Amino acid sequence: MSANFARDKKINLLNEDALAMYRNLVEEVKVGIYIADTEGNLLFVNEAFAHILGFSSKEEVVGLNLAQQLYVDPEERNVFLKAMEQTGHVKDYEVRNVRKDGSVADVSVTSHFIIDDQGMIIGVEGIVQDVTEKKRLANQLLLEKKKLEELLNFDESVNTIHRVDKLVDYIVAKVGAILNVEKCSLMLLDEANNELCIKAAQGIAENVILDTRVKLGEGICGKVAREGKSFLVKNIEQEPDFHRQNRPAYRTNSFMSAAMKSKDRVMGVINVTDKANHQQESFTPLDLKVLTVIARQAAVAVENAQLNQELEFLATKDPLTNLSNYRFFVQALDDEIKRLTRLPGNLSILMIDIDHFKSYNDTFGHLEGDQLLRDFAGILTTNLRGIDKVCRYGGDEFVVLLPGANVHEAKIVAEKLRRMVELKEFKQPVTISAGVAEFKSPINRFELTLRADRALYRAKQQGRNQVSE
Ligand code: GH3
Ligand code: MG
Repeated sequence: MSANFARDKKINLLNEDALAMYRNLVEEVKVGIYIADTEGNLLFVNEAFAHILGFSSKEEVVGLNLAQQLYVDPEERNVFLKAMEQTGHVKDYEVRNVRKDGSVADVSVTSHFIIDDQGMIIGVEGIVQDVTEKKRLANQLLLEKKKLEELLNFDESVNTIHRVDKLVDYIVAKVGAILNVEKCSLMLLDEANNELCIKAAQGIAENVILDTRVKLGEGICGKVAREGKSFLVKNIEQEPDFHRQNRPAYRTNSFMSAAMKSKDRVMGVINVTDKANHQQESFTPLDLKVLTVIARQAAVAVENAQLNQELEFLATKDPLTNLSNYRFFVQALDDEIKRLTRLPGNLSILMIDIDHFKSYNDTFGHLEGDQLLRDFAGILTTNLRGIDKVCRYGGDEFVVLLPGANVHEAKIVAEKLRRMVELKEFKQPVTISAGVAEFKSPINRFELTLRADRALYRAKQQGRNQVSE
């Protein structure tokens, strides 16, 4: 039927009615249409063109120069003109257009020369489109995509950080970025006191971080921690249970708190507030789901990191004397030597061995021998500075790291220790021998330890109960 209609009644495009219809159409479309002369002076524009460029009517625009109106920045204008010159057209060429009233719009321009029958350029025609909203949505979509990728990567990346302090900082930074919030805090539950303390935060004053202690079950985060359920507050002022009038530290009234739950254990909570997107202040149920997923993954990672740190701590402790062990010594000495390559200074070590410890063991038994080792460890720790590191090297042998001490100062320290042991009353008089060595670049850990060991050997050889270098 419609096909027949079209064939039977051919429309004459050149008749007056058809032209009038086209003129109406041109005025009704949302696309800006223009015709300009070869200099770019506008001869004809529709209403949409005028509005896209920030004018109130098309009469204001006719006579103005196309390139000057579109491209306020002369550099961009030249790029446009060059493109036109070289190819005779530009297609979907985007420009940030600053309008007369100062507002900014992203405008897409398509232009081409009008050529007459003889091939002469007689003008320019084309269209402009306001793509501000399209661009904004595209940017937003890109941002959302980035966030989604970050969320998907979160689980993987969070499990590569094994130190709790670094991990909580990382989690807070990621939450801030993914949820686009100005304030975020991560609180861990101190199980001894049933209190939540802030371990990492963003956008929160230092004194608030240090002072905040929330009892389990108290307030919103206390409740979230006790019940293990996430909570979204759209507007605190309309929340009867938690209503508070004066919240000067916060910009918005909406916030969320999610439980960091691993298996059935609540490790803490993650709180967020002050959405950075000013148009949309209130969090959505989707935001809460995202935070809940992050908090669950964060909980597992924090628990693993805590266990890891505990194991590491235990692995560097000597259970008998409670001093650090050989493993710790190796690490500590390497760290000290590394530090000296950046900041020159002194470092000495003492290698100390109890004299005739075997006979003490034989005389009083192994348990008394153990007690002597513990007492000696006590003498070491009480007579050294906080920065000195005391380790049980093995058996009745101990090693002390003295950062900042040269060989003379180290000898004085060793001599003091020797005297302290000599003066202390044990089941029978006990003495020690000590070897001192100072770090001199470029020797390494092995060589420094060997030097101290040789010095200790000399002290033993020379009759024990003495310090040698
Ligand atoms: P020297 O003056 O040459 O050092 O003589 P020494 O008898 O102290 O000889 P040595 O250092 O070789 O002997 C160390 C002894 O320490 C041997 C070992 O039975 C004992 N020992 C090692 N570890 C422990 C321990 O954990 N507890 C006890 N009670 N004895 C230990
Ligand atoms: Mg010994």
